Amino acid sequence: MEVPARAKLNLTLDVLGSRPDGYHDLRMVMQTIDLSDRLTLKAKEGKGICVYTNLHFLPNNEKNLAAQAALVWWETRKEPPQGLDITIDKRIPVCAGMAGGSSDAAAILRALNAMEDTPLSPMELARVGERVGSDVPYCVLGGTALAEGRGEILTPLPPLPQCWVVLCKPEFSISTPALFAKIDRVRLRCRPDTKGVIAALEAGDLAGVARRMYNVFEDALPLHRRSRVNDIKNILIQCGALGASMSGTGPTAFGLFEDKNCALEAQERLNGLGGEVFLTQTV
Ligand code: ATP
Repeated sequence: MEVPARAKLNLTLDVLGSRPDGYHDLRMVMQTIDLSDRLTLKAKEGKGICVYTNLHFLPNNEKNLAAQAALVWWETRKEPPQGLDITIDKRIPVCAGMAGGSSDAAAILRALNAMEDTPLSPMELARVGERVGSDVPYCVLGGTALAEGRGEILTPLPPLPQCWVVLCKPEFSISTPALFAKIDRVRLRCRPDTKGVIAALEAGDLAGVARRMYNVFEDALPLHRRSRVNDIKNILIQCGALGASMSGTGPTAFGLFEDKNCALEAQERLNGLGGEVFLTQTV
C-alpha cells in the first residue's frame, strides 16, 4: 500500500505559557501543503518493523515515528505487532518545523485504519495519534485547523483559499527542545492575531490571513539565525507574497502568493540564496 504524508505550515504560532507537566500551552493555526513524503507499507513474514529511507541519518528501526505509529496502532487494537516493511521516500525537510515525522506517523495510522473492516472515524484516529506525538492528531486530520493545548486539541476551520506557497529551509536546523526551553525567557515583541486570522478564514480573505501570519518563535532564534529567516521573508515580500512567516520552531520560512509568476520569481531568487526551496500549493 502506498500513501502520501503531507507537510504542514503554521499560519500562526503562539505560546500561551508553560505547564506543570513540562509542556507548553500553544495556540496555532495550521495548514496542510502539497509537499509530501511517500510511504510504502509491505507486510512480511515474522515479527518486527524495518524502515528504509532515502536519508541515511533517519532511524531505520522502532525509533522512526512511522514505526512507532504502527506499534501504537496494534497496541490500541490489542493485537500482536505484525511484520512490516516501511519505505519512506523523504521529501519534507527534516527538523524544519514542517512536522515531517509526525506526518509520516499519521500516514501509517491512516493506511492501517483503511485496511480495517470497521475503520475508526478521523477524530478517533487522531486520538490514537496523540499517543505518538503532539502534532500527529493534526496530521491525521489535515486541512486548516486551530490546534491548542500541546497541539492535540483540534478545531477544524474554514479552508484557506487555495494559493501558491514558496518555502525555504536554510541549511541549518533548529533544536525544537532548545527553543521551547528558551521561549519562557524571551520578551515577545508581539503576538499573533489568532482571532483576526480565524475571522479572515471565515470571510475567505486570503490577504487578510496572510498579513496577520506571525510566529512567536522568531523572537527566540539566535540573532544570526533570525537575520537569515528575515532575509528569506524579505525576498518573499519583495516578490509579491501576500505575507511571510516562519513555520513551527523553524527555520523554514514561507510566503503565500495569489500569482504563480510572482511565486516562480521568489523561488528563483531564493534558489540563489542556498538551502532547500520548494514551490507548492495549499491543500
Ligand atoms: P515539528 O514541526 O513537529 O516540530 P520538525 O519538522 O521540526 O517537526 P521532523 O522532521 O518531524 O521535525 O523530525 C525531527 C526528529 O524526528 C529528527 O530528529 C528525526 O531523526 C526524528 N524522526 C523520527 N522519525 C522520523 C521520520 N519518519 N521523518 C523525519 N524525522 C523523523
